[in-house]
Amino acid sequence: MTYQSLSPFDGKLIKGFSDITEGEYESKVAKAQACYETWRKTSYAHRATIIAKAAELLHQQAYAFARTMTLEMGKRISEARGEVEFSSRILAYYAKNAERFLAPVRLDPDKGKAHMESSPIGVIFAVEPWNFPYYQLARVAGPHLMAGNTLVVKHAGIVPQCALAFEQLLIDAGAPEGLYTNLFISHEQSNHLVDDPRIKGVCLTGSVAAGRSIAARAGNALKPSSMELGGSDAFIVLEDADLDLTIPWAVWGRMYNTGQTCCAAKRFIVVEAVADEFIKRFTTALSALEAGDPLDEATTLGPLSSEAALVQLLGQVKDAVAKGATLLLGGKRIDRPGSYMEPSILTDITPDNPAFRDEFFGPVAMFFRVRDEAAAIALANDSDFGLGGSVWTKDHDRGHRVASAVETGMMFINNIDWSDPELPFGGIKDSGYGRELGDMGIQQFVNKKLVRSVHEKAPA
Ligand code: NAP
Repeated sequence: MTYQSLSPFDGKLIKGFSDITEGEYESKVAKAQACYETWRKTSYAHRATIIAKAAELLHQQAYAFARTMTLEMGKRISEARGEVEFSSRILAYYAKNAERFLAPVRLDPDKGKAHMESSPIGVIFAVEPWNFPYYQLARVAGPHLMAGNTLVVKHAGIVPQCALAFEQLLIDAGAPEGLYTNLFISHEQSNHLVDDPRIKGVCLTGSVAAGRSIAARAGNALKPSSMELGGSDAFIVLEDADLDLTIPWAVWGRMYNTGQTCCAAKRFIVVEAVADEFIKRFTTALSALEAGDPLDEATTLGPLSSEAALVQLLGQVKDAVAKGATLLLGGKRIDRPGSYMEPSILTDITPDNPAFRDEFFGPVAMFFRVRDEAAAIALANDSDFGLGGSVWTKDHDRGHRVASAVETGMMFINNIDWSDPELPFGGIKDSGYGRELGDMGIQQFVNKKLVRSVHEKAPA
C-alpha cells in the first residue's frame, strides 16, 4: 500500500488507502480533461468565487486541517496552523490578482499593433511532497486553477489524509467535478500520466532524484515543466552581525518544521571573528529544544516525518563523521517512541566529504568557519544547489553586495522569512527551475500568444 498515514509521534498506523485502479485512474483523468473544456471558458470572476471560498473555508477550519497534518507528518501544531493560514492567503491572493496578472500586454512593434494574450493550456499534473502538505497544494491550485487550467495531483505517500482534505476543500468551495483531482497513483502510473496527451504541463516539488526522473519524462514528451527541488542554503554571518538577532533566526531557520524545509538554513558559514561566539550561543539554543507531542503547543522539538526519514538522516550523519567530520552536538535518535532526532551540529566538513555536497533534511546544521566575506561567498557558491540563502550584517550595503554575489534563486538580508504569496519562490542549479508564487507563478502554464495586426499592401 503506497498511501498510508503513520503517526511519527508513536509509529502507529492511523489509516491506509489503496492505490487507485486503472479504471478509476482513467475516469478521473477523463473528468479533469472534460472539466477543462468548460472551465477554460469561465470568467475570472467565476473562478475567483470558488478559489476565494476555498481560502475562506481553510481559514475557518484552520485547526481541523492543521491537526490532520500534525497527526500524519508530525509538524508542530502551531507551525501547522501557520501553514494552513498561509495556504489560505495564497488562494485568496490568486483569486484577487489572477485577472490582472494575465491581462493582455500591449507591445510596441515598429509596424502595426500587437499584444500578448495569456490563455490556459489544459490539465496540469502536479507531484507534491509531504513537508508542507497544504502549502504545496495551494501553491499550484491558486495560480493554475485561476489561470483556467485544471489539476491532477499526486501527493506524497505519507500524507493521504491531507491530500483528500484539500480535494474535499475545493469540492466544498463549489469546484466542478474534475477541477482539482487527487490521485493515489504509483510512480509508474505517474510516468504514464506525464506521457498522457491530455496532460499539458508538469510541475514537481521534491527531491533532485524525483525531479530528474519526472523532468526527463516531461522533456521527452515536450511538455513544459517546473521543478522545485532540494537545497543546502547558506546562512552567512559576517563579523558585524547583530548576534542577538542572528542566533534566534539561525535556530528558526534550521529547526522550523524539524529542519525538513527545502530552503532551511543548512550551511552556517561564519566569519572567524564571531565564529566562537556564534557557535557557543547556537549550540546552547539548539540544546534547549525539548522533544514532545507535536499536538502540544508547548513542544519545541517535533518528530521527523517518518521512521524512514530518521534512519536516512542518522545514516548521513554517521557517514559524514566516518569521512572526517566532527560532531559538535547530537547525532543520535532520541530515546522515546516516534521518529525523534537530537538537534545536531557537524563541523570540519572538508570538500572531499560527501556531506559537503549533501542536503541534510532534518535537524542537522553544518558549521563552517571562514576568513572573511569573500571566503564566505566562495563557500556559499561551492554547492550543487542554488535555492536560497541569507546574510547577516549591520551594514545594509554590504548585505546587498553579498546577496547579489551568492548564486541562488532567493537571498534574504537579516531575515529568513522565506515565502509570501506575492514573492516568487524557486531556485537554480540542482534546486530546479521555474518559479511558484507571485506574478511569475501564474505565468508557468499559460500560452503566451502574440496577436498582431498590420495594415500593409499585399506582397507582390
Ligand atoms: P521525494 O521523495 O522526491 O517526494 C516528493 C514527491 O515526489 C512525492 O509525491 C513522491 O511520491 C514523488 N516521487 C518521488 N519519486 C518519484 C518518481 N520517480 N516518480 C514519480 N513521483 C515520484 O521528496 P521528499 O523526500 O518527499 O521531499 C523532500 C525533498 O523535497 C527535499 O529534497 C526538499 O528539499 C524538497 N522540497 C523542495 C521544495 C521547493 O520548493 N524547492 C519544497 C519542499 C520540498 P511518494 O511519496 O509516493 O514517493
